[in-house]
Amino acid sequence: MQTPIQILKTKFGYESFRFNQEEIIKTVLQKRDAFVLMPTGGGKSLCYQIPALLFDGVTVVISPLIALMKDQVDALRLYGIAAAYLNSSLDSEEICDIYKQLNKNEIKLLYISPERLLNNNQQFMVFLRDLKISLFAIDEAHCISHWGHDFRPEYRMLSSIKKEFPEVPTIALTATADKLTRDDILKKLQLKNPSIFVSSFNRPNIHYSVEPKRKMYEQIISYLNKHRNDSGIIYVLSRNSAEKLAEKLKSDGFSAKPYHAGLNNEKRKKHQELFVKDQIKIMVATIAFGMGINKSNVRFVIHADLPKNIESYYQETGRAGRDGLKSDAILYYSGGDVVKLKKFAIVEDNPEQTRVMLRKLSQMASLCETNVCRRGAILNYFGEEAPEQCGNCDVCLTSREKFDGTVIAQKALSAVARLENRYGLTYVVDFLRGSKSERICENHKRLKTYGIGKDIPKEEWFRYLKDLISFNYLKQIGSEYPILTLTEKSRDVLLGKEKVFLVKIAAKIETALSEKAYEHELFDKLKITRIELAQKENVPAYLIFSDATLLEMATYLPQTMEEIRKISGFGDIKLARYGKIFLKDIVNYCVKRKLVSKIIEKIPKREHKQKL
Ligand code: ADP
Ligand code: ZN
Repeated sequence: MQTPIQILKTKFGYESFRFNQEEIIKTVLQKRDAFVLMPTGGGKSLCYQIPALLFDGVTVVISPLIALMKDQVDALRLYGIAAAYLNSSLDSEEICDIYKQLNKNEIKLLYISPERLLNNNQQFMVFLRDLKISLFAIDEAHCISHWGHDFRPEYRMLSSIKKEFPEVPTIALTATADKLTRDDILKKLQLKNPSIFVSSFNRPNIHYSVEPKRKMYEQIISYLNKHRNDSGIIYVLSRNSAEKLAEKLKSDGFSAKPYHAGLNNEKRKKHQELFVKDQIKIMVATIAFGMGINKSNVRFVIHADLPKNIESYYQETGRAGRDGLKSDAILYYSGGDVVKLKKFAIVEDNPEQTRVMLRKLSQMASLCETNVCRRGAILNYFGEEAPEQCGNCDVCLTSREKFDGTVIAQKALSAVARLENRYGLTYVVDFLRGSKSERICENHKRLKTYGIGKDIPKEEWFRYLKDLISFNYLKQIGSEYPILTLTEKSRDVLLGKEKVFLVKIAAKIETALSEKAYEHELFDKLKITRIELAQKENVPAYLIFSDATLLEMATYLPQTMEEIRKISGFGDIKLARYGKIFLKDIVNYCVKRKLVSKIIEKIPKREHKQKL
């Protein structure tokens, strides 16, 4: 019999196990129950897929989403693994066919929805009893708890599995569970003395950053222009903004589509499919989008509007970088958003719930305003300890140095005074910088303070003013269009009686995860080949190979079948199916440019990972 690591290598083409995958697999192989909490992209699937291949019978995987089931089954079939799903999207003939295969014990993994498993007087349970079931895997297990954010009533019935099949081990997996939800899951599923595996919630490959929201569209465009080939999600608050932003992006030459609950089913499905299959690059979406998206090569998640709590923020940004490659989470923050969201936080006739929602919102705002490592702040929020600096967020990657900013403060305060406490942040900054814009009143242009802050870039002015506000030398009043006014503390600064210390923010020290040099053109060519194959097989491109696999090929330039097999993601079947095709691209490219193989530089994956 093969060992788990052999299966990992030969079937899936991966070098080594991640985090606690190996231990989880061992536990399951000993027929013990397990509970697995692992962040998105952590590698939960292999925890039951590998045992499924080592057990004699069939592993039944319970999954709430039809789209996800299909995705997983397609992925497994590409690895040459016998897998099937049963749900309402199949016709009776297809179902009959699967039943036959199950009876002949020809299926290793069966994906099924909970309602299918348990309805019709448990007919299906009766059918299952005659099969050899080796394992139940319950994916998205938090759906069983109404403490979680995605409670599904049909999951509740899953508690009967343990009663019906006490001798079959069960593994429950989720990416989202606080302590309360976790205990609830264990109780509801009635797992027997389960081993509990909790991984860190850290997503080291995601770079978090928060930028002040000003001319948001320009800010977004400036990012997108630098990431033309990348695929990503832009989250907005309303259906209307989703429509508008997608439209605008389209007219500026980006391939974008909207996704929100106001679109009919068919449209939503279509847009999702276009995105998943890499036929559009950008999805502009409300929070309605994301559940059940397995697309591994989402390179960025932009929040154009503030999420309503850190849980949502974590979950939405978590859709980036499932393949483990460098990805960006960018949030455009404005105090105005907090005010707007406060209205939504109010739960009628429920002051307690309202308080909770408002507290969560203010924690989200603090995360944006903080001067400490963002990753640390997120992990602490989830009750996890974290080092002081992660080295891969905007806070850690900028140097902050205090300096005597009294003169700067005086300039700002006198500008506010001369403008008679009647203008907002942007106006004051433009005024300070001597903007020629028509927006600035002609008589303001004649004031002595007009343009006294020319020497300081706009971005910096915004930061300094924000600091002055947070130190209470200035305050903002009004919610919709807040204006800047002086405070009691302003006077002493203007009179030179009080010194003000500001923080100098230097540019990025370095980019965080230094990438190994790779052949960009080859990488793009490999992507095209991947898309062609995907279209032929009618599956999403990332199921053929992840971006990580393509990147390795474009980095190490394997020249023979022997060499290409060392690339992570090439199991036996994929090697036989696609090895030659990709090899041809690489060899052609290398011949033209007189490049040679660098496969010798490839170190096993685990060593890269541990450094993060
Ligand atoms: P999750 O379900 O936890 O979100 P997946 O099971 O979909 O994560 O795994 C995320 C990605 O990581 C997949 O592309 C998977 O093939 C890959 N992966 C999982 N385990 C390993 C491993 N040990 N080595 C390399 N890649 C892995
Ligand atoms: Zn950090």
